[in-house]
Amino acid sequence: MADSNRLDLLVSLCKRRGFVFPSSEIYGGLNAVYDFGPLGVRLRRRIRDLWWREVVELRDDVEGLEAAILMNPRVWEASGHLANFSDPMVDCLGECHQRWRADQLSGDRCPNCGGELSPARQFNLMFKTHMGPVEDAGSVVYLRPETAQGIFVNFKNVLNSSRQRVPFGIAQIGRSFRNEITTGNFIFRLRELEMLELEWFCSPGDDASWFEYWCERRMAWHRAIGLSSDSLRFRPHGDDEKAHYALASTDIEYRFPWGWGELEGIARRGDYDLRRHQEMSGKDLQYTDPSTGSRFLPFVVEPSLGVDRTFLALLLDAYREEEVRGETRVVLGLDPRVAPFEVAVLPLSKRPELMEVARRVEADLRSSFATEYDETQAIGRRYRRQDEIGTPLAVTIDFETLEDQAATVRRRDSMDQVRVSLSQLREVCATELGR
Ligand code: ATP
Repeated sequence: MADSNRLDLLVSLCKRRGFVFPSSEIYGGLNAVYDFGPLGVRLRRRIRDLWWREVVELRDDVEGLEAAILMNPRVWEASGHLANFSDPMVDCLGECHQRWRADQLSGDRCPNCGGELSPARQFNLMFKTHMGPVEDAGSVVYLRPETAQGIFVNFKNVLNSSRQRVPFGIAQIGRSFRNEITTGNFIFRLRELEMLELEWFCSPGDDASWFEYWCERRMAWHRAIGLSSDSLRFRPHGDDEKAHYALASTDIEYRFPWGWGELEGIARRGDYDLRRHQEMSGKDLQYTDPSTGSRFLPFVVEPSLGVDRTFLALLLDAYREEEVRGETRVVLGLDPRVAPFEVAVLPLSKRPELMEVARRVEADLRSSFATEYDETQAIGRRYRRQDEIGTPLAVTIDFETLEDQAATVRRRDSMDQVRVSLSQLREVCATELGR
């Protein structure tokens, strides 16, 4: 399958099956903003939960935080975002007047019409709005372009209210907004996105080794949720592309159909943010080591991931088409841990006695697994739907079930079918799903 084709096929599957819809579609949409439908919501929850479990719940040295999207605008002055969170923008002066990000162009002409380009100027990516009834300079507030600053300004609050000592981390999941100059590639570059961020606070001399540690941990996580190893790589940043706060950074990249692209950024931020907030706020943000009494501003290592790009990478990675008895079968080979549904329960036909058993079986499995009950259409089409939305197991209740109290379990990937007694169904499903 051609790679460009792959994205188009996925976009259409996402719409057809209810993963992703263009925002306000009946009004023609809104550029680089998307809504997530019933299956999309399930997949996003899985991504967030798997990240939260790994980064917060399975550790005793990370605390959670939910800071507001709106913050005192001085935060963005201190963090450097007002001055530096910008991309160089050029306009086509030829026929098409299209806008481009100068650092993403290879030549000095418009890639669309070949026209001349304007000199580059810096365009700040933060969305601005006003707070309160008066729209003047004093009422400007910004929609946060990252969640990290909410963590830095709460560093002392979390430190003083928890039992943590350096090294420790604060994690946050939340929406961010970036007025991106160029968009495209479906949900890869959005103007409203969701981030999963960890700020790891450590002693100044230790940040290089913690950086290595988090690079390894984060890469292992991407593999564990099912992304194929040969489509993942580290790409260390050169000196010319590091963000304004970074001592060093590395991207974890995924091989998207249009080429390698950033999935997660891992940065050594030094004490840049805490130092700037200490200066601007006049508040002491230093940490006191309880054993030595020494006072210092911790250094920070930050792994920062997008829910949306993880979502897209998982779907692209899982998408495949197979020939089965002269027909094309579309399968999302998602890992059971991220699949929207784990088990589908299907009565073979709409006979009331089959539907009744199937509903009972589904109700019973629902407390242990993400299940879907489906009685519509012919059984072949229902299997096709479950393959297409990545459900690893389908349990079919047929006429024999009424006799033998057993059902057929069909595996998505191999299409093998095994007969399982109803009393063993829960156990067999758990084993099949790797629980
Ligand atoms: P890029 O170089 O692609 O513009 P960035 O380096 O500005 O991205 P970071 O600030 O490192 O991105 O953001 C951390 C993570 O947040 C990214 O790895 C990505 O997963 C996600 N992300 C950032 N910007 C967007 C966006 N516009 N749409 C979707 N996800 C995004």
